[in-house]
Amino acid sequence: MTEPLGGWKRTHTCGELRGTDADRPVTLMGWAFRRRDHGGLIFVDLRDRDGVTQCVVNPAEAGAAHTRAEGVRSEFVLAVRGVVARRPAGTENARLPTGEIEVQVRELRILNEARPLPFPIEDEGDVDELVRLKYRYLDLRRPPLFQNFRLRDAVTRSVRGYLHGQGFIEVETPILTRQTPEGARDFLVPSRLSPGNFYALPQSPQLFKQLLMVAGFERYFQIARCFRDEDFRRDRQPEFTQIDVETAFLDRDDLLPLIEGMIVAVFRDVQGVELATPFPRLTYAEALARFGSDKPDLRFGLELVDLTELFRGGEFQALAQVAGTGGAVKGFRLPGAGGLSRKAADDLTAEAKSLGAKGLVWVKVTAEGLQSPVARFLEPVREVLLRRLGAGPGDLLLLVGDTMPLAAAVLGRLRVELAQRHGLVPADRRALAWIVDFPLFEYNAAEKRWDSMHHPFTAPRDEDVALMESDPGRALAKAYDLVLNGQEIGGGSIRIHQQPIQQKVFELLGIGKAEARAKFGFLLDALEFGAPPMGGIALGLDRLVAVLAGVDSIRDVIAFPKTQKGTDPMTDAPSPVPPVLLRDLGIRVVDVEKGKP
Ligand code: ASP
Repeated sequence: MTEPLGGWKRTHTCGELRGTDADRPVTLMGWAFRRRDHGGLIFVDLRDRDGVTQCVVNPAEAGAAHTRAEGVRSEFVLAVRGVVARRPAGTENARLPTGEIEVQVRELRILNEARPLPFPIEDEGDVDELVRLKYRYLDLRRPPLFQNFRLRDAVTRSVRGYLHGQGFIEVETPILTRQTPEGARDFLVPSRLSPGNFYALPQSPQLFKQLLMVAGFERYFQIARCFRDEDFRRDRQPEFTQIDVETAFLDRDDLLPLIEGMIVAVFRDVQGVELATPFPRLTYAEALARFGSDKPDLRFGLELVDLTELFRGGEFQALAQVAGTGGAVKGFRLPGAGGLSRKAADDLTAEAKSLGAKGLVWVKVTAEGLQSPVARFLEPVREVLLRRLGAGPGDLLLLVGDTMPLAAAVLGRLRVELAQRHGLVPADRRALAWIVDFPLFEYNAAEKRWDSMHHPFTAPRDEDVALMESDPGRALAKAYDLVLNGQEIGGGSIRIHQQPIQQKVFELLGIGKAEARAKFGFLLDALEFGAPPMGGIALGLDRLVAVLAGVDSIRDVIAFPKTQKGTDPMTDAPSPVPPVLLRDLGIRVVDVEKGKP
């Protein structure tokens, strides 16, 4: 039998009572987390979002409450009234903040019942993710998961506080809009009022925030939802959240410290950690050369060393050839890993090949000399090799010769994996860095044209504007990424604010004048009406919160995430719609799998 609240009011949460509250009359409300019947005394651990409090119902003192408590099952919703008492000596629970006390129940109300649950709330065990998502509201009752959302809230509060303090204003931009150019596929929404036409959900507020700068808003931010219809990729969500920022009249070197300040504020407010500033800056070229990645994990060393010159014209034919044909030989040292078994070495070679390398040279350094299948080719360069890599007995050396980007990328991946496997990643370190000076374009060989490395509105460096004519591949951009522990947590750029330069970029991207007009005419117009110099950034809020929460998946910091296939097992979205709705939209669905309308 359930009862109404009947005017009862909570006096405390289930997380706040301590020994000093003894004898206090209290009213608590929450869920029955655990219930133990000790033949006589019934113990109910009452849980709300703040914690758990042990409540004891004694038949001798509260007969009616005891009868009700006998019927209580997991996750029933309860209200209890009683008195706080210190737990008898020896029965305190030091692991629970409320572990010194219990509430001796005088009255108990069952506010609602609960069916047997598909999985226990208490047990963090292995529950199938589909089941967790189908009953997400139960999954979210699990205290550790809920804590992620408190943290997320603290992050957005800190971001808002900081940005408001810096003169930013929060502005919302449209969700129903035109296709935007972040390079992914758009989600489309058919328009009923303009049959045959579609809105696109924004991949980011990019163009709108630039237009707000033309409008004179000067400092904009938004905790913005973005939508990208991408195929299955590890830990991506079709909708995700960015801290989206745009400013006017700031160049890169003014903007980056401003954003650093925001990150510092977040870590301070949320974790009480004081980050050192300025964050190190690496150029894109340097990041690739030294770490084989444009999002290097700087929590540990294992830097790549360029060994091309060492092998040029030497006896090691394969590497000499790489050096002689414009390629690069790179290597790094894994300290103390020289004890590696033959099998482990072969596995590493296979791994390098699966990453695209033609082979991997592995070398164990011993007191007696080098051990490697190619040791005799290395003998002539042994001393310099060891010196260049700073290697000594007990170390493992790994070398790859290939084109520079490939050799670096393969070793970059091995660097990260081996650091993890060998426990060389300090878990409590937070390594932030800016990667700057990205190339403006990447060559798209298949389509024989240039692609933007960031997006088409990114400005070239002032000194590289002319290169767009003469040698576009060498033009560097005023683009930057923010990297935290080897993950990209944000990226942005100074924008093109002059129409002719924007036009030129479109041309190089293979977007003709007419097409540019049709797609971005509103932007091109705006650039002719007094657009100020502008630039901004977007930070992935989900990823940032996941790192702060110490969880691997962004699904653990999104209240209602989708599966890897973009479905929601709880609401069953996406779903078929009644034919009449399709008719109104002028849409006929063809070629769907059998069994669906
Ligand atoms: N709109 C960009 C993105 O979503 C970020 C930026 O340039 O501000 O990646």
